[in-house]
Amino acid sequence: MYNWVMKNEHKRRRKLYIDIIVVIAVTVLLAIFFTWKFQQSSEIKVLNTLSEISNQSVNVIQDEVEKNKTLLTNLAIYISEGETKDIDMLIERLVNVDKMNGFKRMGIIRDDFWGKSTDGKGFIPDKVSIQERFQAAMNGNTVVSDRLQDLDDGKDVTLYSTPINWADGTRYVLFGTYAIEYYKEILSVSTFQGEGYSYIIKRNGDCVIDSENKNGSSFENFYDYVMEETGNNKNKLQQFQDDIEKSRDGFVSFNTAKGSRYVYYQPLNVNDWYLLSVIPATVVETHINGPMELAYAMLLVCILGILYLVCRVYQVQKGSRKMLERAAYVDEVTGDASYAKFMLDAQRMLDTYADKKYALAVLNIKRFQYINDLYGYEEGDRALRRFMKALRVEIGAYECAARMQSDHFAVLLVYQEQEKLEKRLDTILEKIESEADNRIGDTPYVLKVKAGVYMVQQPGEMLESMLDRASMALRSEYNTEIKHCNFYNETIRSRMLKNREIEDCFAEALKNQEFYLCYQPKFGVAEKCWCGAEALVRWNNPKSGVVSPAEFIPVLEHSGGIVELDEYVLEMVCRQMRQWLEEGLGVLPVSVNVSRLHLYRLNFVEQYLTIIDRYQIPHELIQLEMTETALFSNEDILSETLEKLRSKGIRILMDDFGSGYSSVTMLKSMPIDTLKIDKSMVDFVEDNEKVRLILESIIKLAQSLKLSVTAEGVENKAQYDILKGMHIDNIQGYYCARPMAAEQYAQILKYPDKKYEF
Ligand code: C2E
Ligand code: CA
Ligand code: CA
Repeated sequence: MYNWVMKNEHKRRRKLYIDIIVVIAVTVLLAIFFTWKFQQSSEIKVLNTLSEISNQSVNVIQDEVEKNKTLLTNLAIYISEGETKDIDMLIERLVNVDKMNGFKRMGIIRDDFWGKSTDGKGFIPDKVSIQERFQAAMNGNTVVSDRLQDLDDGKDVTLYSTPINWADGTRYVLFGTYAIEYYKEILSVSTFQGEGYSYIIKRNGDCVIDSENKNGSSFENFYDYVMEETGNNKNKLQQFQDDIEKSRDGFVSFNTAKGSRYVYYQPLNVNDWYLLSVIPATVVETHINGPMELAYAMLLVCILGILYLVCRVYQVQKGSRKMLERAAYVDEVTGDASYAKFMLDAQRMLDTYADKKYALAVLNIKRFQYINDLYGYEEGDRALRRFMKALRVEIGAYECAARMQSDHFAVLLVYQEQEKLEKRLDTILEKIESEADNRIGDTPYVLKVKAGVYMVQQPGEMLESMLDRASMALRSEYNTEIKHCNFYNETIRSRMLKNREIEDCFAEALKNQEFYLCYQPKFGVAEKCWCGAEALVRWNNPKSGVVSPAEFIPVLEHSGGIVELDEYVLEMVCRQMRQWLEEGLGVLPVSVNVSRLHLYRLNFVEQYLTIIDRYQIPHELIQLEMTETALFSNEDILSETLEKLRSKGIRILMDDFGSGYSSVTMLKSMPIDTLKIDKSMVDFVEDNEKVRLILESIIKLAQSLKLSVTAEGVENKAQYDILKGMHIDNIQGYYCARPMAAEQYAQILKYPDKKYEF
């Protein structure tokens, strides 16, 4: 049972652990999935923002360039339609336009590449570089240049130029330069809280406009710059260059000395310019990390929440299990361990400490029923509690004990040698008897305890069967007062088996009429003739021969079969007497033994009278022998029953008087007719003065109470004479006559008045 419980417990626990792990794993996986998704979408969001910003910037720059180009072309047309070709005059007019439109300077170049600018400094001496710069316009195109050095102060500028087509077919060039800062301003619109920035490069990577943002860098050529920063940008650069080659836009990320950068590139449609919108990866990360940290925190909270819930459920379960365990493991009467707990503990100990020698004892309170009967169940329960308390003190480590049921207790003890174990058990029982402190108010009562012991023979024996054997040893001697401890052995076992056989065979034996009667005559000492007989049952078992009643009566008393047998005996006696009566014999009274179990039957008297009357036996010819133990309990019911029988003329004999706990006072309250002195007293009558004195006074006392006295088990003349001298009424014993067959006894009945001398 223990193993089964533990196995189930392990299984349950393992399942719980697996469940917890699965739930947490699923949560974490889901969280990772969502995180990943979130990260992706956040990244996309940031990059989308980046591309939007880039689009805006592209539009602004394109507009700006277009606006400037349009301004210049319109101006050029206006100039060409004017009446003067004179540069000085034209420049003079341009000064105002220049100021209004934020040009660094404006100017006009003649077809011989001589020119003049609005600030007057623009007299350009270097023909070659002039030609280079203005050739496109001179060819009829309106253009904007890449980054150039101002020929005057060497500062970075961009140059817009457009043709002025005169009516005479000649062509001048109108130009305006912008300081590069002008574009930087346009590009430096704050993005991503000032973290983002932009470049404009040419398709070949040359820088048009770089950034002054703290995250940005200055470079001559973007490709060289990226390659210099770190080597591992090569593949990305390749993709980037390919895209640029094909005027595609896209994303790329680079590693730079200042950290990783996301770049969105987009053609500007101005020359071969490209706008690069850049943000540091950290911006993306902080964009992602903020919510991510929150998400991780929530995940953690979720996991902690799950763990907390699991713990709570476990705790609640544990609590209810504890309550159940308590209900199952605590004995409601003693408040100590229950039998179930004992079974678990004992099995565990037997399994765990296989190296130790163990003995199982079953303890029982003798005649516990009397405590209940006399003092009530409450006192009975108190006695059991005190019993357990006293027993508990004696139980050591590696040992256990508990109440089994009613007044039975189970104890598992460690021992070294049987002798020591016996001594220890004796002490334990004595301590329980003395320390249990049994008293009602001031009146102490005796608690007697006996034990059946089984010494564990080999590991792996079934606990239940070991307990059975200890109980067997406890019960091994029905009725008789066994010593404190009875150890289980093979004799007990075979006796138990035999008893079992008796119980099993009984019904069949009764049916097969295997029982018959012997009659042991009783002698009237004063009358000097036979005064009656006791019917004694015999069992002729076809298998094992004649079985002594001393063997089967206790078994049948235990099984309850005795009730049937006693009635059967009465019936046989009545039938026999009827026959004798009809034969005209001088029938003397016959006594039959009545087991105490009859007294628990309500219709006992009626049952017996019915049988007697059925055979029309005069009531004074039937006597009933009852033992004094039977007379002890339920005095009221008993005396009522006996009174009823006596009123019908049936006499009552108290059997075995002086064998147990006799109470002389009982004589006055119990309605009986005869005392039968037990053989155990008769045995001592020769040698023991005290017994003689006691016997003498009992006889006197009984006779003064108008009771007759019979001595049983008288075996010799000496005993006979002594008892005769005490004026005993009747004597029964081998000395006068042994139990005999009915036919032999019938011989006596032929001459009932015949005198004898012993
Ligand atoms: P008991 O009622 O005390 O019966 C007397 C027993 O003592 C008988 O044993 C008898 O044979 C034996 N006895 C008589 N005189 C002497 C003697 O001088 N010396 C010795 N050693 N023994 C003597 P038995 O017949 O074996 O019966 C044993 C017990 O069985 C009886 O003791 C009685 O308690 C019980 N018993 C017998 N027949 C019945 C019955 O029909 N019903 C019930 N309930 N019990 C019965
Ligand atoms: Ca008897
Ligand atoms: Ca007797």
